[in-house]
Amino acid sequence: MAQWLIQNGHLIDPANGLDDVLDIRIVDGNVAAVGKSLTAEASDEIVNASGLIVSPGFIDIHCHLREPGQEAKEDLVTGTASAAAGGFTTILTMANTRPVIDQAIIVAGMKYKIQTDAVVRVEITGAVTKGLEGKELAEIGDMAQAGVRAFSDDGFYVNDGRLMRAALEYASMFNLPVISHSEDCCLVADGVMHEGCVSAKLGLKGRPAEAENIAVSRELMLAEMTGGHVHIAHVSSKGAVDLIRAAKAKGIKVTAEVTPHHLCLVDKTIESFDSAFKVNPPLRTNEHIVALLEGLNDGTLDAIATDHAPHAYEEKDCEFNDAPCGFAGFETAFSVLHSRFVKTGEWSVQKLIQKMTAGPAAAFDWQDRGHLSVGGLADLVLIDPNKAWVVDPQKLLTRGKSCPFAGMEMTGQVVRTMVNGKWVYQDGKITRK
Ligand SMILES: [Zn+2]
Repeated sequence: MAQWLIQNGHLIDPANGLDDVLDIRIVDGNVAAVGKSLTAEASDEIVNASGLIVSPGFIDIHCHLREPGQEAKEDLVTGTASAAAGGFTTILTMANTRPVIDQAIIVAGMKYKIQTDAVVRVEITGAVTKGLEGKELAEIGDMAQAGVRAFSDDGFYVNDGRLMRAALEYASMFNLPVISHSEDCCLVADGVMHEGCVSAKLGLKGRPAEAENIAVSRELMLAEMTGGHVHIAHVSSKGAVDLIRAAKAKGIKVTAEVTPHHLCLVDKTIESFDSAFKVNPPLRTNEHIVALLEGLNDGTLDAIATDHAPHAYEEKDCEFNDAPCGFAGFETAFSVLHSRFVKTGEWSVQKLIQKMTAGPAAAFDWQDRGHLSVGGLADLVLIDPNKAWVVDPQKLLTRGKSCPFAGMEMTGQVVRTMVNGKWVYQDGKITRK
């Protein structure tokens, strides 16, 4: 296996408190040394990273790879290529595939396919209920033993509180989180966007923020009751942030994530009736964004997650009401947030990197990920913080070409990604060196 010496990069490793121009040596898939002006060894292949940021590989705790069953939207090859291009070295894929990942045998099949097809580390979420139907608990214990890292019916709220209670109790026996897509099904009904002035003006059915707040409230109470770990996916409402903050203060075992699109886009964009902006929970208003930003700042929100949810272009190319929800997110996540918050001086780049590395690793207690400790895994990215580029969905590696950031000018991009000591992405292409 090649031995690498990455020289003169601006190494930012929030978990280890590192923020300096440093060299890093990679040997046999592990970090062998980190320090000032390391002496090159004969077997080192040198990478000059001057002017670049060296960061631990990003961790995405919420994505959809569509395999098995919906490979027209994405599969493990295109999905993990897209993740690598976005700088993600570990991703957690959701269970809403066809068939649903609700049995140990399907987890085993996925693990086999991951070994052959994936260029980044893929962790698996098992369903909470069989077929995501919300009626009967899935094989929680068997799937835990088969190696899933979380449980979720994401895409749906587990409407039956008794089942959610059982899932939290059962998952806690394996120290695994239950991830909640928190929107009260009856309140959102067939709403297609945030309920407010814009939905009223456009005559589109709304999904009120209260649907999220109510759903989150129940999850927090059940987490308190059971002692289980609930993770709130894609938090988008002010009320949810307030509730999670209060629950954390009480010592309830809750963690939470927020997406780039909920931080950067508002419901008003839907005035274009462009289905690229259709997502659940919906894009809301500035008032909610302010609360999400406060939540990120004070640690109420632990991580940034993409909710990468690709669809075939023709599926999204229809009337707003009929379009499926979600869009690709891996390849824009870092650049969107870097352009919107770091370049404008609102956030430090360290903060952004923390929320994409150490933050998600800590939320799910993945102690071997999200840092560049000596002896640890060599999962890292090189970032050019000044690289200007424009989002052209046709050039993205994902199969999901619908993207709400299409045409936007970005500053900052991942230029190289290393997984387990091998470069898997470099200069716009997947490599396996
Ligand atoms: Zn969801």
